[in-house]
Amino acid sequence: MKLSRREFLELSGKSVLAMLALSLPKKLLAMPEEMAKFDWEDYYWGYGIDIEKCIGCGKCVKACKVENNVPDEPFFFRTWIERYVERKDDKIEVDSPNGGKDGFPELKNKKDIKKSFFVPKICNHCEHPPCVQVCPVGATYKTKDGVVLVDPDYCIGCRYCIQACPYGARFLHPEKRVAEKCTLCYHRITKGLRPMCVEACPTGTRIFGNLKDNNSIINKFLKTKKINVLKQHLGTKPKAYYAGMDKEVR
Ligand code: SF4
Ligand code: SF4
Repeated sequence: MKLSRREFLELSGKSVLAMLALSLPKKLLAMPEEMAKFDWEDYYWGYGIDIEKCIGCGKCVKACKVENNVPDEPFFFRTWIERYVERKDDKIEVDSPNGGKDGFPELKNKKDIKKSFFVPKICNHCEHPPCVQVCPVGATYKTKDGVVLVDPDYCIGCRYCIQACPYGARFLHPEKRVAEKCTLCYHRITKGLRPMCVEACPTGTRIFGNLKDNNSIINKFLKTKKINVLKQHLGTKPKAYYAGMDKEVR
């Protein structure tokens, strides 16, 4: 069979793609299909944190910084880890050296410790987000699939949203001079991938999924664990759900 130049190029292109497909992990292969299929009406994202599983290794913080080009200085984080230490005299100590990115130093006076645990923090992607309400130019907004985002083209860097967030989840980017925060890795989740912090966690502390899907991992987590949210009394309706959260966590 004689092939035209165009037919030959098409055929060889397909062969290369087929060879590539055989050597790629399934998850990556799912990407183009997922991308084509993504309709935000089908999704409402939720995030779970199983406090008892967190070992404070900081791999999530590192992975987030790399994935999202978060400035390296120790006061810019889209996610961070806090360590809570409850002493026998009921005093509570909280530390988060470099956001927990490099892990935590050994605890002192171990004999006096009642308990200690790690609490990963992110933007809660609140259902009633005060950060959105205060933005004077509409640069901070909520997507239909429940993610709170900032449009850097519209943000004027006024910091109102940073002050309004009761969770300390935002910062002003030192060079771009616009508000920044966790996006749940929106560039990944809309392609069928998980946020990078979830991907990087070696213990399964961080859980992510579609609240509209009854069989999703996040719904299983919500159904099987005792769940709390941060600062519930504020009425912001966070969508970062914590299992195993001590009453001292704030
Ligand atoms: S945690 Fe803060 S930044 Fe995130 S949605 Fe809620 S108020 Fe806004
Ligand atoms: S990667 Fe997982 S276990 Fe390590 S600090 Fe982050 S949430 Fe905790």
